[in-house]
Amino acid sequence: MLESGEETPTDVTAQVRRHLESLRAAGVEWLPAFGPPMIPTEAPAAPVAAAKERFQEKTEAAVLPVASPVEDRRQELDMLAKVVSGCTRCKELAATRTQTVFGVGRIDPDICFIGEAPGREEDASGEPFVGPAGQLLTRIIAAMGMKREEVYICNILRCRPPSNRQPQPEEAANCREYLERTLELVRPKYICALGATAAKYLLGTSQGITKMRGNFYDFRGTPVMCTFHPSYLLRDPTKKKEVWDDMRALLTRLGKPIPQR
Ligand code: SF4
Repeated sequence: MLESGEETPTDVTAQVRRHLESLRAAGVEWLPAFGPPMIPTEAPAAPVAAAKERFQEKTEAAVLPVASPVEDRRQELDMLAKVVSGCTRCKELAATRTQTVFGVGRIDPDICFIGEAPGREEDASGEPFVGPAGQLLTRIIAAMGMKREEVYICNILRCRPPSNRQPQPEEAANCREYLERTLELVRPKYICALGATAAKYLLGTSQGITKMRGNFYDFRGTPVMCTFHPSYLLRDPTKKKEVWDDMRALLTRLGKPIPQR
């Protein structure tokens, strides 16, 4: 029984809500999930070190709750990108890259496009899919009635393989943890695997892309459409029709209108 003047759980909830609203009004955008300190007491590198430590624990406890707000996930994604920027798991790639290429786009997108690895332009700019193949991907997204900023774009690898060679299995394995955590934080409705290498390393399949394209697969509960890589379309434009068919299937699943070409 509550003593006179003792607060009920409802009172406490209302107080917490008012406190959070006053913090938000004061410009506080996010709070750490567990306990103090709210304000970092160490150098700016501390959040990165904390994220790295949490990431390396590889436990369920490191995963944000399902209902975690977008801003919390954006914050963790940014911290993960900082952790990745210092990654040296693949010695050759770490020694030859200009910089890591993490991913771009919105949280909770309809689609996350996953390619193979950064190329020369991406290695120079730090952004995925900005070279000729990337420009074609941007046009494909536009043809679907969307903007590039409305989707998420990343690769199996976050570092450019020398001379744009294909990723080695051990490199894909090294980088998979980053990809998986990215997908957990971004939470796309659908994934589109671009090309055989992306499909192979994402889904663990050895099937060719010609057989796989046009069908939906599953990655931990998220449907995956496989299609040709835009760089293949640059070499063989006759394959554009198949890719458009795949994008139409994606739009249909999403319940979106199919723009006329
Ligand atoms: S490809 Fe991934 S795992 Fe390998 S060095 Fe780059 S960031 Fe690290």
